[in-house]
Amino acid sequence: MSRWPLGLGAASGVGVGAAYWTFMSPYAQLLGPFPYRSRTGRPEVALTFDDGPNEPYTSQIADYLDGKGIRATFFQVGRAVRAHPDTTTRLARAGHVIGHHSDTHQFTRCLQRDSLGEELAAGLTTFAELDLHPALYRPPWLLRIPALFPLLREHGLQPVSGAFCHPLEVLQRSGRRIARGALTRSRPGAIVIFHDGFDGHPGNRAETVGAVKIVVETLERRGCRFTTVDDLLGIPAYNPAGRSRTPSDPVGAPNDDRLSSAATHIPADTGRTRAAP
Ligand SMILES: [Zn+2]
Repeated sequence: MSRWPLGLGAASGVGVGAAYWTFMSPYAQLLGPFPYRSRTGRPEVALTFDDGPNEPYTSQIADYLDGKGIRATFFQVGRAVRAHPDTTTRLARAGHVIGHHSDTHQFTRCLQRDSLGEELAAGLTTFAELDLHPALYRPPWLLRIPALFPLLREHGLQPVSGAFCHPLEVLQRSGRRIARGALTRSRPGAIVIFHDGFDGHPGNRAETVGAVKIVVETLERRGCRFTTVDDLLGIPAYNPAGRSRTPSDPVGAPNDDRLSSAATHIPADTGRTRAAP
């Protein structure tokens, strides 16, 4: 075999890796601030749940967390919220934070500015019908295109990353295995990503429910406490009703100094900033 095809293959491999890192890595900050943890120094972790509501699993997780007095952050998909509005309302009333995770969770709709803007607006409309006005947004697959960041500013949304609990969570093979992955990522200040749904569709998440219980009980024994993403990063969880902020807005806008601090992992000590849902 000649060296030329090998060279091409290596070059294309490097290109794919660089593209993945730039556009989909939980940790890359090249396109804009994308906080994935806080360097609080305190033993606290934010548990987050993407892709729901998805019953009965979302409520099983909520029942368990509520029984422990733990609040978490749920990044929900508009179409799943429309299927289970009572679940979203129940979570918010219990003090969990509701974040935005697109309206349909369709990959191709996250690739272009126009459809991405429609995803943001449609999701916000669905949340507003429940009197919820999220300020936190987690992109599906953590996919960021350059247009995402100005769109988020237009809609008063702050992007939030995190660490996936386990790369094989989607296969739902073993709660213990998922929990082991999550525990290795649960350092102080970590934002850990679980999935209570499947891209906004129904599906079995029983192993994730089991994993959450193992993670909580193990971390509690280690002296860890649990908090929500807004509290961990010192940023607002919600916007005032009836208002999408613009980049020129001075208070709590996504280019706020506090967000820059969060993105660069400077400890956030601004205390509670979360408005009532
Ligand atoms: Zn998702």
